[in-house]
Amino acid sequence: MPVKLPHVEYEVPATVAEAVELLAEHQGEASVLAGGQSLIPLMALRLARPAVLIDINGLGEMSGVSVSGGQVSIGAMTREYVAEESETVAGAVPLLAAALPLIGHEAIRSRGTIGGSLAHADPAAELPAVALALDAELVVRSRSGDRVVPAAQWFEGYLATSRRPDEILVEVRFPAAGPGTGAAFQEVARRHGDFAIVGLAASLTLADGAISDARLAFAGLADVPVRAADAEGLLVGQEPSAELFEEAARRATDGIDPPSDLNGSPEYRKKVAATLVRRGLREAADRARQDSARKNSARKNSAHAHERP
Ligand SMILES: Cc1cc2nc3c(=O)[nH]c(=O)nc-3n(C[C@H](O)[C@H](O)[C@H](O)COP(=O)(O)OP(=O)(O)OC[C@H]3O[C@@H](n4cnc5c(N)ncnc54)[C@H](O)[C@@H]3O)c2cc1C
Repeated sequence: MPVKLPHVEYEVPATVAEAVELLAEHQGEASVLAGGQSLIPLMALRLARPAVLIDINGLGEMSGVSVSGGQVSIGAMTREYVAEESETVAGAVPLLAAALPLIGHEAIRSRGTIGGSLAHADPAAELPAVALALDAELVVRSRSGDRVVPAAQWFEGYLATSRRPDEILVEVRFPAAGPGTGAAFQEVARRHGDFAIVGLAASLTLADGAISDARLAFAGLADVPVRAADAEGLLVGQEPSAELFEEAARRATDGIDPPSDLNGSPEYRKKVAATLVRRGLREAADRARQDSARKNSARKNSAHAHERP
């Protein structure tokens, strides 16, 4: 098996604008090099053969986490471990915070990027399921300007997205979670750090004890992440209970037709998926209750502080 990279031209743009020009110049012949944690192994195995690599690791303008207008924006070049350690992500995008520590190992997350994972679009990866569940928006840039793609229109097939060859992914926007939101990422993998055989992104928001928002998306059940819209619809308006979560698990897995491979049969994956829905919803509901309690007590404390003479 060859392990050395094939010959490739190497470009290091100094700005995003320069990277966009290079992509336009080398239409379809170039690949952007982000953390390299997926692209370099694919090149070594000759499964990817770009003629030109455009290394965007020096583009600081594409890194960082910021909040504005109820959205959390994460630069595509933000390393997975940087997002994992971000207090903004922990507070405002709890589902992303739950998923990040499950990606590979620390060494992978110290190089791998948020944008790289979403552009690579491995259907067993955690972040595509998170982006789909939360209706994230992906911002791509080309010579003709910026285009905002909803996550539901981003994933097109196995390692395939709706990004055009002359576009670079610059930013991902997640909606900031409202009060009373709890999230969980559940997965079954052969070993710690491996890609999930089946994964589930789950997020619940509680208002006055009832579920006001429910989000569920699977990894590993098809060649794209899969949203469980029917189960989400069932959950909204109901109070969390074991019976409700059992029924949600049934609805989420009823019509699915998972793939078969060395990791498991379709029946096995379906069974695991149902278990993950029950576990994920239970954990998300517990965390949503804790979040409500924390925010209520913070509100009361601040009201008392204002009442004091
Ligand atoms: C041993 C190992 C275990 C792993 N385990 C997991 C795991 O459990 N879960 C998981 O999700 N991932 C896992 N990964 C993959 C890891 O998360 C990668 O970091 C990620 O998939 C790709 O990110 P990257 O920044 O390294 O992208 P790269 O490898 O640099 O790029 C990947 C692809 O995306 C394109 N691309 C990257 N950035 C952009 C951009 N800004 N605009 C346009 N195109 C872009 C590249 O051209 C390339 O086609 C693992 C990797 C390894 C090596």
